[in-house]
Amino acid sequence: MRKQFVVIGLGRFGTSVAKTLSALGHDVLALDINEHAVQVIMQDVTQAVQADAREEETLRALGVRNFDVGIVAIGDDLEANILITLMLKEMGIPYVVTKAQSILHGKVLEKIGADKIVYPEQDMGIRLANNLIRTNVMDFIELSLDFSIFEIIAPSKFVNKTLGKLNLRAVYKLTVVAIKKSAGQIVIAPGSNAVVEERDILVIVCNKKALSKLPN
Ligand code: ADP
Repeated sequence: MRKQFVVIGLGRFGTSVAKTLSALGHDVLALDINEHAVQVIMQDVTQAVQADAREEETLRALGVRNFDVGIVAIGDDLEANILITLMLKEMGIPYVVTKAQSILHGKVLEKIGADKIVYPEQDMGIRLANNLIRTNVMDFIELSLDFSIFEIIAPSKFVNKTLGKLNLRAVYKLTVVAIKKSAGQIVIAPGSNAVVEERDILVIVCNKKALSKLPN
């Protein structure tokens, strides 16, 4: 379904979010106080506007209240970041995502009603560290502070055993939600008879701590 996004602040983060959403076929209104930032993205989004997003009148005139998702990607100006998040929520945008600079800033955003808080630099750092340390983690999606969905290359100790025999939920406190076979097919919600084969990729849900206990 085509959705309407408003992206406020066209730094590196805001620009890449706006361009990606647009490339995926969604409507994107991109807004920045800086004329140059607006010029640069003009061709890639539905509409690009130079304006100070702290001005409520401007946001109203642009019909921002009717958008499905608001993304506040202003970094350094903490006051603007918080104020604009608050205004978007008060206007009734159902889902507002805001970029935070620190955990404390994130807590403030949570209190004023931001639906999702992102820490792009920290997230990228965590992702990179995970990739460097655990070479068998292909990818992951964070579900909460503790839990994530990981894609891991099946550890050699698991190969040629059934999920029932491996008893991973009891031993490692992890749940296998899918197995990607090397030939390309995918087994969703595999049962206890499913056999782990060499070069399988396991899609698992588990606590981050549990992951570090897995054999390679
Ligand atoms: P990044 O680290 O992702 O590059 P920045 O914090 O450098 O992000 O970029 C933030 C962007 O937000 C800048 O392009 C800046 O011009 C814009 N910006 C800052 N304040 C406002 C505001 N009040 N209204 C609209 N855009 C703003």
